[in-house]
Amino acid sequence: MTTQIVKGIYQLKVPIPDNPLEATNIYLLQGDNSYTLIDTGWDSNTAFNSLNRQLAEVGVGLPDISQIIITHAHFDHFGLAGRVKQISNAKIYMHTLEQEVFRTRYVVSEEFLNSVAHWFTINGVPQDMIEAVHSPIKGFRKPIPAQPDVLLNGGETISSGKFNLQVIWTPGHSPGHICLYEPVAKILFSGDHVLPVITPNISLTPTTKGNPLGDFLQSLATVRKLDVAQVLPAHEQIFKNLPGRVDEIVRHHEIRTKEIMAAMGHQEKTAYQLATAIKWMPEQGGVDYGDLSPVAKLSAVSETLAHLKAMAVEQKITSVIHDDIVYYKDI
Ligand SMILES: [Zn+2]
Ligand SMILES: [Zn+2]
Repeated sequence: MTTQIVKGIYQLKVPIPDNPLEATNIYLLQGDNSYTLIDTGWDSNTAFNSLNRQLAEVGVGLPDISQIIITHAHFDHFGLAGRVKQISNAKIYMHTLEQEVFRTRYVVSEEFLNSVAHWFTINGVPQDMIEAVHSPIKGFRKPIPAQPDVLLNGGETISSGKFNLQVIWTPGHSPGHICLYEPVAKILFSGDHVLPVITPNISLTPTTKGNPLGDFLQSLATVRKLDVAQVLPAHEQIFKNLPGRVDEIVRHHEIRTKEIMAAMGHQEKTAYQLATAIKWMPEQGGVDYGDLSPVAKLSAVSETLAHLKAMAVEQKITSVIHDDIVYYKDI
């Protein structure tokens, strides 16, 4: 269903198949003679038909779209961009660093998978757990939906009629994630950077450069300063109290850092051992590691590693290697 948020800005909900998130919120902005879309949704026929139906509710067709801005290149945001572009010939805007995601999420090479398997192995994850996730995705290829037409770095302004969207680079959840800020309407399109209930996944992988959790916290501080009346997120519901929500997410990461430190107990532990010792999914009241799905088990290790990286940068912990396995220890 299409909802008008303020005059000229509409929210559409594009369904994500078999996913607890249920839908991606995408946004339609009226321009002078055409429209801008912020994100597009998951690539499936159901999603595509739903998008068309919701556009039609406000008298818009795909050929009326002239700009597509992608907050980040995950499937649920970028997936339909190819089909929308094919019909509309719209220009696709994306942060330059999101092109890294093409290599890790769309065309998954054997070499890449091997490097990820090696990475989990040296971090103490049992082989059968790695195999359970990797075997089914060997040779996985999802066509890259489309190539971007305009590469962004942050700091640009993209206009659509009376709306002027400031591009804010917010790395963390994804290396080239962007939020868009409209200063007159005081609206922040937050993508997956700030969601009202769930905390976005921040992971370290063998291809991750730097300190994604550190980047994420910095990116939270960046948006917290903005004068925002409404946050329009890519999932869940619209909300108003941005500083309050930012503080909650920061607190969540502080608590997790403390849990990891406590689990370490002044001993050398692998990332896997630490991940198994803490509670996951706090928004669901906390779930034991053993009760997570096979995929979630691996991503819990990647999230633990993102924390360990941030803790190492802050010089709280150090790592040692014994028999090709990495152990972490407090300083
Ligand atoms: Zn995402
Ligand atoms: Zn998402």
